[in-house]
Amino acid sequence: MSAPLLGQMMDVPLTVSSLIAHAARHHGSTEIVSRRIEGDIHRYTWRECETRAKQLAQALRALGVEPGERVATLAWNGYRHVEAYFGVTGFGAVCHTINPRLFPEQIAWIVNHADDRYVLFDTTFAPLVDLLATQCPNVRGWIALCDEAHRPDLRTEVRCYETLLDAQDGQYAWPELDEKQASNLCYTSGTTGNPKGALYTHRSSVLHAYAAALPDAMSLSARDAILPVVPMFHVNAWGIPHATALAGTKLVLPGKDLDGKSLYELMEAERVTASAGVPTVWLGLLTYMRDAGVRFSTLERTVIGGSACPPAMLRAFEDDYGVQVIHAWGMTEMSPLGTLSKLNWEQSQRPLEARRALLEKQGRVIYGVDMKIVGDDGRELPWDGVAFGDLHVRGPWVIDRYFRQDGGHESGQDSAQRGASPLVDGWFPTGDVATIDPDGFLHITDRSKDVIKSGGEWISSIDLENIAVAHPGIAEAACIACAHPRWTERPLIVAVKKPGAAVTRDELLAFFTGKVAKWWLPDDVTFVDELPHTATGKLQKLKLREQFRDYVLPSALAVAGCPLDDEPAHADKPLAQRE
Ligand code: ADP
Repeated sequence: MSAPLLGQMMDVPLTVSSLIAHAARHHGSTEIVSRRIEGDIHRYTWRECETRAKQLAQALRALGVEPGERVATLAWNGYRHVEAYFGVTGFGAVCHTINPRLFPEQIAWIVNHADDRYVLFDTTFAPLVDLLATQCPNVRGWIALCDEAHRPDLRTEVRCYETLLDAQDGQYAWPELDEKQASNLCYTSGTTGNPKGALYTHRSSVLHAYAAALPDAMSLSARDAILPVVPMFHVNAWGIPHATALAGTKLVLPGKDLDGKSLYELMEAERVTASAGVPTVWLGLLTYMRDAGVRFSTLERTVIGGSACPPAMLRAFEDDYGVQVIHAWGMTEMSPLGTLSKLNWEQSQRPLEARRALLEKQGRVIYGVDMKIVGDDGRELPWDGVAFGDLHVRGPWVIDRYFRQDGGHESGQDSAQRGASPLVDGWFPTGDVATIDPDGFLHITDRSKDVIKSGGEWISSIDLENIAVAHPGIAEAACIACAHPRWTERPLIVAVKKPGAAVTRDELLAFFTGKVAKWWLPDDVTFVDELPHTATGKLQKLKLREQFRDYVLPSALAVAGCPLDDEPAHADKPLAQRE
């Protein structure tokens, strides 16, 4: 056999520094606007951002940071954090964004596991730094993201970011790196067990940035101004800092104030056209806008993901405010984008309700990700919108392994040292349960640990939550599995009422009738003042399940020999009754 004919194209590595270099050179005057911790609005350009990123790279090199070493951040969305994204990675070190909302012990564990050399922190987190410093002996220095005038008064010895930058001239040429070198590190929240690290490459970050900017993804262009509410410590703000540099988009960064009023005012002032965030923040924004009677003048679309976007929220955005919702699904292990709900030409000709039914799902994959659903036996299930199974994915921005999961070392490691692969036949099992319909639209029904197993069949807790929050008296709802002597598990709704709403248990239960198969109807409703959330704003179902571990459902009592008037609604033959 003759040797394959190789193409004759330049072998230019895909590196994160090429993104900022492009933004600075070709979109140099486009702005990055930040609401600072100091209280004011800071504005500068992509060109100035690159110069300061270079000064940071010089400063870190002067401190002895070597390529491959990790530099961590504990910071809000702001321009200095953007500089860290590019300055740290630009010379080959790894930018490790840490979620400051985690428990301090968890953060210390993460810093030690990642073996971070330096930690850059917003002064909001100064008290946390004093705690961490005693527990993280390998950190060589703590750098406060401020000038000398704002230097926090701490027991720990701290350097000032601005002083370090001032000592450098920014005359620095980004070195050419291997595109397979590590660029960024993010840990999953670790709702069960210790957090796990996803170590991205320069190549995966650039390819993901291309995909994120596509018209059928976030649709980012040089004509947009995007305000990412999703924090830069949550899976790299879904890749937005990278994708905006690639597309030359104006970036508006909200800092620490993520309440409805602050977000609304910044969006209006900066004429923001696009945004992105988890459903809980949008709840705050929509409530503020309704109460204040205000409307958006420039916002065209928003990406909602991280947890399921309730259809009621989608409708509120579209019907009340004319803002397009792009429902997105992904995860830390996927950089994070996997699917987005954008219709194709034919689908957009369908009647309104059919279009909406599609848009409420998590959408179709973008090029670069492949997905499948499999049954218990590992066999692929049909894309019929009914069969649900474990969701598996693969692609160039999906992890191959977790970072140092075996506690081993990262340089020159062979596959045994790198720990066991989490992959199954070359696919990454997401831990999500989903259906895929004939249109190729993914619908996440649950995380596998949250699914309710009733009589050998699965009930989607997300679907039931979406119905509960569509009730006008309900602000937020969680659906969890409750032990049941006959069916193993049955659904319980734990709901928070809107202020002043008088909805009762029976009214809410009745609200489900006709909206799902009978055997999916929740067995009970209980009201609480507040629901627990994770550090990334998701419902903390593990905690709720612990809280309600001893909860006795009325239907369980009936089985135990205390028959109730109304026999529980679930069926004897769940499968047969599926509608
Ligand atoms: P963590 O929950 O640890 O912060 P991730 O942010 O990576 O980690 O969460 C990924 C998970 O979030 C997915 O596996 C899925 O369960 C859930 N998720 C993300 N987006 C959506 C969505 N649009 N609808 C439903 N679930 C979602």
